[in-house]
Amino acid sequence: MKYYSTRNKEYKVTAAEAIAHGLAPDGGLFVPETVPVLGENEIKALCGKDYRGRASEILKLYLDEFTESEIEEIVKAAYGDNFDCAETAPVHFVNPTTAVLELWHGPTCAFKDMALQILPYLLTASLKKCGEQRKVCILVATSGDTGKAALEGFADIEGTKILVFYPHNGVSDVQKLQMITQSGKNVSVAAVYGNFDDAQTGVKKIFADRELADKLSAEGWFLSSANSINWGRLLPQIVYYFSAYCDFVNSGNISYGEELDFVVPTGNFGDILACWYAKKMGLPVGKLLCASNENNVLSDFFKTGTYDRNRPFHMTISPSMDILVSSNLERLLSSISNDDKLVAGYMAELSSCGKYTVTDEIKTVLSENFIGGYCSDKQTKELINKVYNEQGYLIDTHTAVAYKLMETYRTETDSNKPTVVVSTASPFKFCDSVLDALGDGTKASGVELIEKLSEITGAPAPKPLAGLDKREKRFNEVVEKTEMKATVEAFVK
Ligand SMILES: *Cc1c(COP(=O)(O)O)cnc(C)c1O
Repeated sequence: MKYYSTRNKEYKVTAAEAIAHGLAPDGGLFVPETVPVLGENEIKALCGKDYRGRASEILKLYLDEFTESEIEEIVKAAYGDNFDCAETAPVHFVNPTTAVLELWHGPTCAFKDMALQILPYLLTASLKKCGEQRKVCILVATSGDTGKAALEGFADIEGTKILVFYPHNGVSDVQKLQMITQSGKNVSVAAVYGNFDDAQTGVKKIFADRELADKLSAEGWFLSSANSINWGRLLPQIVYYFSAYCDFVNSGNISYGEELDFVVPTGNFGDILACWYAKKMGLPVGKLLCASNENNVLSDFFKTGTYDRNRPFHMTISPSMDILVSSNLERLLSSISNDDKLVAGYMAELSSCGKYTVTDEIKTVLSENFIGGYCSDKQTKELINKVYNEQGYLIDTHTAVAYKLMETYRTETDSNKPTVVVSTASPFKFCDSVLDALGDGTKASGVELIEKLSEITGAPAPKPLAGLDKREKRFNEVVEKTEMKATVEAFVK
């Protein structure tokens, strides 16, 4: 199967090339030329397999140049006892029509692990297949979760190095401690004076620096990125939608063929886009509910057909969803319209005036499949409190935004359709807000609060977070924006 750029269908590459390069030269994202469709028997067969088995079957369909045993090896390495439960991505039933898909049992306690535990293997194998002799240095600008998940994924992976920049004072206590205590010989972390945008802009500049690229290349290195524009990050996310459907069927709460709605807390639109692909592949999915916090660009887009990023940026208690430009939406527009010129046009409008309006045809498909909605921080906290007190189940702030949208939608449509809430982080990762939601007024650092949350709820803290304050702090460097390039040069040697 070939992949082409969302902005130019003539530009075609193999899966390995798409994963190795990340982004097309015209700035477009790589998308599969055709989406494989599974029949009823094939999906039923997945239901009899474990998570690894399900993952191997799905990945195989998209990675022609990889042999079956190669894929099985990769999957085995990525989804093993680095996850704290045998199911990898278990489904928790709150009641017979409401399931929560827990995607945070990996080493960093957020859903980014589902893709970043496997990406290093896919990437290094892809580089080999492309005949790439140079070693790769992954550069990441992070607002918290991606940085740690990428560090954990690439730590001590042969032929790679990874350097993460995060905004000084711009991440939670837990997130910072997670990053600066990272182990591994090939990793480094630096704080940048400034906010996330400063760090992100700095990294983009470094990627665009031809002179630096030539210099690194002469030394046997090139730079690459691990964010969700890479197809290698999106593909592994399709798996857990199939897996959740199978688990729902296996529970006896639906029979095969019945549709499930999925509600997804959304930022860069990667997670929910994987659900769209699963639906196109034949999975019985009803509506895709796209949940936002007060940064409600997407919610407006699904209502009006106009994407407009010209609005204030809000810092919320679900920070991983604080985003105004959702990169992966471009892939959805490409998938629906099948028109590269049209998509290229929208993206040009977005970059020149911050907005664009889709055609009526696209709008119709959107409204048949997607429901957008958002809630405030206050509503998020009320929801956490309510679900904990009524169901005895604790969720984090991001998951709560999604759960709230499901409730609103059920009320508005007066229905109770079987639904999966996609849960993207452990509540312990955002314990200050979660404790606040439960009515506890303790003021302390995020790390001290881990214990407190554990005491109050009786739930043990995830292992990777519990021992955090005892780990060696390895990376205390804070750099100016102007020093980022020198930091990269000093690291890649
Ligand atoms: C990254 C992230 C999201 C948003 O996912 P997208 O794929 O960017 O839409 C939601 N919740 C958490 C906890 C995250 O880390």
